Amino acid sequence: MNLQTKPMQSKLRLGAGFRIAMVILLATLAGVIAVGCASNPATGRRRLNLISMEQEIGMGREADGQIQATMGLYDNEALQSYVSDLGVAMGTNSEWPDLPWTFRVVDDEAVNAFALPGGYIYVTRGILAHFNNEAQLAGVLGHEIGHVTARHAATRISRMQITQLGVGLAMVLEPELQQIAPLAGIGMQLLFLSYSRSDENESDELGVRYMADQGYNPDSLIDVMETLRRVSAAGGGGRLPEWQSTHPHPENRQENIRKHIGDLGPRDYRSDGRNDYLSRIDGIVYGADPREGFSRDGVFYHPTLRFHIRFPFDWTVLNQKQAVIGLSQQRDASVQLSLSAESTIDAAAQRVYGLDQISGSGVTRTRINGLPAGIGSFTAQTEQGELEGVIAFIEYEARIYQLIGYSGSENWNQYRRMVDDSLRSFAALTDRSAIDVEPMRLDVIRVDRTASLREIYESYYDGSTPPISVERIALINQLEPESRILSDTRVKMVR
Ligand SMILES: [Zn+2]
Repeated sequence: MNLQTKPMQSKLRLGAGFRIAMVILLATLAGVIAVGCASNPATGRRRLNLISMEQEIGMGREADGQIQATMGLYDNEALQSYVSDLGVAMGTNSEWPDLPWTFRVVDDEAVNAFALPGGYIYVTRGILAHFNNEAQLAGVLGHEIGHVTARHAATRISRMQITQLGVGLAMVLEPELQQIAPLAGIGMQLLFLSYSRSDENESDELGVRYMADQGYNPDSLIDVMETLRRVSAAGGGGRLPEWQSTHPHPENRQENIRKHIGDLGPRDYRSDGRNDYLSRIDGIVYGADPREGFSRDGVFYHPTLRFHIRFPFDWTVLNQKQAVIGLSQQRDASVQLSLSAESTIDAAAQRVYGLDQISGSGVTRTRINGLPAGIGSFTAQTEQGELEGVIAFIEYEARIYQLIGYSGSENWNQYRRMVDDSLRSFAALTDRSAIDVEPMRLDVIRVDRTASLREIYESYYDGSTPPISVERIALINQLEPESRILSDTRVKMVR
């Protein structure tokens, strides 16, 4: 959760924004007549296109706004323009030069890259930390550009229109309830449906061609694929899914890429730009950013917004950009914390109790750990049945926090007490050690003597507790712990 409090979004959790995007997409699609069978300049293949490129661009633009608002961009202008310049040069050199090519670095530790229809492409700061030269970045951007120019999303969305119609209908009927009783993760799944094996292969082929046309040796794409394989084997984190789940079918991809490279024939390539690339990512945030909230001993701390709250014991806590969501083990109860768009407790309470589907007698004014608050119970009618819960509004540092805990009415007795305790645990954060927490950052160092990576690692952390294992350091350097590193080579450490 961070400080973004745009009135439209502050009440919505991550998935809801996407679902709204999907309602727009579905509505757009409903009025679409088949545009006919046209040959795509990128693939040379004829494919029935249900939507025009103009419509794809419209969808991409719409969803781009949602992505920026819900996931957040990495706050580093130099890095943003570096990635953007490289990507735009590749996109405008493709068969679709006139698309509004847009490249952004998303503030997420997950190792991923993805494309929206119409030319909107994203890489996470997590994937940037795992590249070791510019050619590898170009390879992944080329692959994503391939999804756009081959118009894979259009096919995906047409298919989604059929399978998700039921969901779409529910969204149209209950838009207001989404803010009260969202179900974690559904919106993400809608937008990040995975591509088919032939789509992936086609994007690899196009990516190889696009990077080679810019002078990058496409062998780098094979190195990236190997790293992505290792990352998914090691397991990751982050708000976003990892590469493997948005780009499935890893079988034979390295082999296929080698074949596509062979088809290009011999070419001269420029240097891979290793040292320049490493200096550009030197100092970027690595792993989860605790300043946006972290959990310790069952307590969720938000150092920037300076509050803490205890979720019920053994619940899963999802820290999203605009909400913190606790989920019971059985996923049948939830406590959600977000910022209200209103500026007073009364107005915030009126907004919720004013909804048609919500009944209850409003909030009673009280104090929660010294902070002005209003707390009340409610029942809500949803497509899935009746929900019962408790809601609290807390005024703290000129913001109104909205805390909602609920479950299906049939289970409410079992959860009432622990949910109520959780809402009442919200308090100001004064613990200096939690407020001053700093994220880990990449540190690119120049090795001054030939040694194994393990030896370099041990002398770097000399005596102190390393924040990261030597295996993970090896992974981000695309090496093994026992790899020999020659003097004067640059390697990544994490501080
Ligand atoms: Zn892909």
